[in-house]
Amino acid sequence: MLSRDITALAQADAMRRDFVANVSHEIRTPLTVLAGFVETMQSLPLTEPERAKYLELMAAQSARMQTLVNDLLLLSRLEGSPLPGVNEVVDLGALMAQCENEARGLSELLHPDDARPQRLYFDAPPPFELTGAASELRSAVSNLINNAVRYTPAGGTIDVHWERLPDGGARLSVTDTGPGIAPEHVPRLGERFYRVDRSRSRESGGTGLGLAITKHVAQRHGGELQVSSQLGKGSTFALVFPPPRVRPLPAGAAAVSALAAAA
Ligand code: ADP
Repeated sequence: MLSRDITALAQADAMRRDFVANVSHEIRTPLTVLAGFVETMQSLPLTEPERAKYLELMAAQSARMQTLVNDLLLLSRLEGSPLPGVNEVVDLGALMAQCENEARGLSELLHPDDARPQRLYFDAPPPFELTGAASELRSAVSNLINNAVRYTPAGGTIDVHWERLPDGGARLSVTDTGPGIAPEHVPRLGERFYRVDRSRSRESGGTGLGLAITKHVAQRHGGELQVSSQLGKGSTFALVFPPPRVRPLPAGAAAVSALAAAA
């Protein structure tokens, strides 16, 4: 008699089924709304303002599907491509400047003319660089910062901070004064489509894949995603990179970075 343990295979199969069901569900909702509007526009005489309003709603639904498909493609690229090498150097100054611009834009978009705008604090560029895939790291970092902006209410604070660790590694932390996350949810963050607050996620354009992408990118770089949170107080999401991925800046760049920090 030959016996074989197929637990892992069965688990993988169940995961695949869940994933397909989740993707279909995520796409079906905006598609149903979109189809409904198309039908309305085809069958009812509409005034110009009504037409404009429906088209705007349709555009929002198709944008949602586009974001979802982009995130899915990014995840599948991450799974299928070789691990990032240690020869490509990532300019953290440029990367952080891009993420900061994006986050400030998003914050203004979500809180237009708010009497209590969010306060965003970004450290000066760190005096070290990382090796790895720049585009992947940009997605990972911007997901964490954009989440902090999306989930933190008006008047809240978001702090973005790089530090060198005693073992020679590096850590990026994004701390917010948002709603926080109850302890039972924390271990499941990073699972595809796992959301704590479904409606807030959808309202602010979330796909439920951001942290899955971020966790994947961290692991591909030999690092990890850490989450600590207190309900009602806020959260800290951190990316930790191991020493082989961290290099001091070349002398000239280090001087520029020191000047930027002093300014
Ligand atoms: P989404 O697109 O839904 O934001 P993510 O994978 O980026 O998906 O995040 C998963 C879930 O984790 C979110 O739906 C939200 O409930 C929770 N979450 C993520 N970041 C924060 C945060 N900074 N504060 C509170 N909850 C958060």
